[in-house]
Amino acid sequence: GKGLAVFTSGGDSQGMNAAVRSVVRMGIYLGCKVYFIREGYQGMVDGGDNIEEANWSSVSSIIHKGGTIIGSARCMDFIQKEGRLKAACNLVTRGITNLVVIGGDGSLTGANLFRQEWSDLLDELLAHNRITKDQREKYKYLHIAGLVGSIDNDFCGTDMTIGTDSALHRIIEAIDAIVSTAYSHQRTFIMEVMGRHCGYLALVAALASEADQVFIPEDPVPHNWVEKLCKRLQQERKSGQRLNIIIVAEGAIDREGKPITAELVKKVVVDNLQQDTRITVLGHVQRGGSPSAFDRILGCRMGAEAVMALMEATPETEPCVVSLDGNQAVRLPLMECVRRTKAVAQAMTDKNWELAVQLRGRS
Ligand code: ATP
Repeated sequence: GKGLAVFTSGGDSQGMNAAVRSVVRMGIYLGCKVYFIREGYQGMVDGGDNIEEANWSSVSSIIHKGGTIIGSARCMDFIQKEGRLKAACNLVTRGITNLVVIGGDGSLTGANLFRQEWSDLLDELLAHNRITKDQREKYKYLHIAGLVGSIDNDFCGTDMTIGTDSALHRIIEAIDAIVSTAYSHQRTFIMEVMGRHCGYLALVAALASEADQVFIPEDPVPHNWVEKLCKRLQQERKSGQRLNIIIVAEGAIDREGKPITAELVKKVVVDNLQQDTRITVLGHVQRGGSPSAFDRILGCRMGAEAVMALMEATPETEPCVVSLDGNQAVRLPLMECVRRTKAVAQAMTDKNWELAVQLRGRS
């Protein structure tokens, strides 16, 4: 059977395990020899026990677990050519020529580079007798399929990334818990949620929790935001509302690009309205807990599609990213999606928020 390996890289997200499980089982079902690579690219570079053959039952009872059971890491070695040579050697000596990478845009960029260099890497390994001529010939093509695991929903080309829905569940649970105490004490609550460049979590959480105000990076507030916010909060209290909720994304800014932090918003509310105001920073709670049904199914579907894409690949097939497009699993050119995702980040840096939103598309 064909050698196929799956690994998770970059930040973890809920639903990665469902994707790993699906890749392993679909791979075995289609007759592949399937491997886990532990600790992302670091495990690929280090080899040894990090690359282990998987069987049907090694992915039993993981679908409900958060994070990734095969570990994830950031890996400096893989950025260097020498690291990628070691990684290529570890794959070739095990007969692995199909990779499913589950990660963010950095991880997918690394995979694409690896594939572009593959032939050169093998030549160099052969020249140094680290692989045989037979191996050089037999494993001359590397095929890659990417899945996007990220709680931020910050990747262009897919409607939802694996992990976003579960993170939203965590945020909503936290807000619901806070609402009852805020109501009792007539407090204003400010909740900081993740999203440095992408306000998706903050925006959707605000809609789903009836928040009074949301601050996101894509929609910088005008200079008179303080008056507008205070007026709104005051009006709501006058009309009998006993609490207020304000959601702030980590990367929220004003039109000059100055950060709008939870602390700043609190100061504004306290100084102007003297409301009893508390901040909650959710942090890693958002990545925690068990994956939602949506993320489990998303991981399953994307994982199976990735394996099918690899099995259908010809030497000319470019790396793909498996995406969700209107509830359909689709295969898109990996590098085009990565380029668009990086262009969004650049547009945000350039303070061209309209372009960023336009480039990002439907998600
Ligand atoms: P997250 O969205 O959680 O940040 P990510 O996949 O974008 O996930 P990165 O830290 O950017 O996270 O990348 C993960 C790993 O991918 C890096 O530690 C590195 O090993 C590899 N990688 C990233 N970019 C490159 C690159 N240009 N060349 C080679 N390897 C890379």
